[in-house]
Amino acid sequence: MDFEWSESQKVFQARVRGFTERVIEPEAKEFDEKNLFPVATFRKMSKEGFLGITVPSEYGGGNGGAMEYSILCEEIARASAAYIHNGHYQTEKMLFHYGTAEQRREFLPPLAAGEFLAATAISESGVGSSFNGMAATASREKDGYILNGEKVHINDVAEAQIINFFAMAPQGLTVFLVHTATPGFTILEKMDPMGLRASPIYSFRLTDCRVPESRRIGQEGQGAQVFFSAFNHSRIGNASCLLGIAAEALERAISFIRQRKVGNRVVADFQGIRWIVAELSTRIEAAGLLRDRAAWMEDREKDPARETSMAKLLAGEIAMEAVSQAIQLTGSHGCYRDKPFERYLRDAKSLCIAGGTLEVMKNNIARQILG
Ligand SMILES: Cc1cc2nc3c(=O)[nH]c(=O)nc-3n(C[C@H](O)[C@H](O)[C@H](O)COP(=O)(O)OP(=O)(O)OC[C@H]3O[C@@H](n4cnc5c(N)ncnc54)[C@H](O)[C@@H]3O)c2cc1C
Repeated sequence: MDFEWSESQKVFQARVRGFTERVIEPEAKEFDEKNLFPVATFRKMSKEGFLGITVPSEYGGGNGGAMEYSILCEEIARASAAYIHNGHYQTEKMLFHYGTAEQRREFLPPLAAGEFLAATAISESGVGSSFNGMAATASREKDGYILNGEKVHINDVAEAQIINFFAMAPQGLTVFLVHTATPGFTILEKMDPMGLRASPIYSFRLTDCRVPESRRIGQEGQGAQVFFSAFNHSRIGNASCLLGIAAEALERAISFIRQRKVGNRVVADFQGIRWIVAELSTRIEAAGLLRDRAAWMEDREKDPARETSMAKLLAGEIAMEAVSQAIQLTGSHGCYRDKPFERYLRDAKSLCIAGGTLEVMKNNIARQILG
């Protein structure tokens, strides 16, 4: 057992932290307030290789594993978790696990290079935690499919060039790659979400949108397997973002209480305050170890379903608690919007829902244990 990151992982972490402090931190508040996709920073992240971090090098990616992805998410979320575009990484994973050789060759290089941005389109007004009742359809025609349906809560879809679109085909739930330039694609509404606002959310519709069979990911009816191949991975990313938020909030609070005096005493000297710091630090560490184990399992191709759900559950709970306590520790000083705490709170809450709620994580864990 080895609790140390490799030298290259340490170097990568330092590089991402430097980028985050230099590029994302100074603009994060503005893009949150404006509810805008940060195009220029997306380009810079592409140049750094961050968009294809886990894509194999033969497709122009960084060849990293789940641990490198975790480091990336955790470090970037210290400034803003909205800069991790989950749909993009999910699409890469779907293609890697279920794409044909041609699909990988065609789509992985531009995705890894950030020439294409990808979005994930599952949710509908009647479909969230379960696929049951999905109304989007894929009807067969001679050499392909006709897609119809409305999706809601979809991050980055107006900015994306490619979507993975979930629909009911004759054989059941199926995933398709759809170019947003395809006739029949229409954005319906830009939403006004509470958190992760630099990754804007939209509803959109596909109307009689024709795609060839070569745009289907996996077999017809294999949608659930394709989903899990990507979401087990992206939940490690969700957990990492939540850990980054928790750690950053606590560190900011610690530097405040170290210098803040109440009467003639420093706040960090109060016993009750010290216990809060001790408890939060312990729980953040525990959640980090669980995340590391989930990443370790995925990198060894062991089924990480239980551990990824556990990691997201614990990281979600600790992030909400850590940010709330950080505001408490900083008193009135943390209650203003020039501090990032309220944004962290909104982002952490959103991450406890997006990509699978914490209740769904509990169901996954219970299913793994109890059947
Ligand atoms: C910021 C954000 C970004 C998002 N981005 C995307 C995106 O890019 N693409 C996309 O397809 N979707 C996206 N979503 C949608 C997201 O995946 C869903 O919101 C999520 O899966 C939950 O579905 P729901 O909101 O419909 O809640 P519901 O499924 O209606 O659940 C409502 C409540 O019931 C609970 N619940 C549901 N089922 C059970 C159960 N069996 N046992 C116990 N409790 C249960 C839930 O945990 C929740 O508390 C995003 C959501 C958010 C908030």
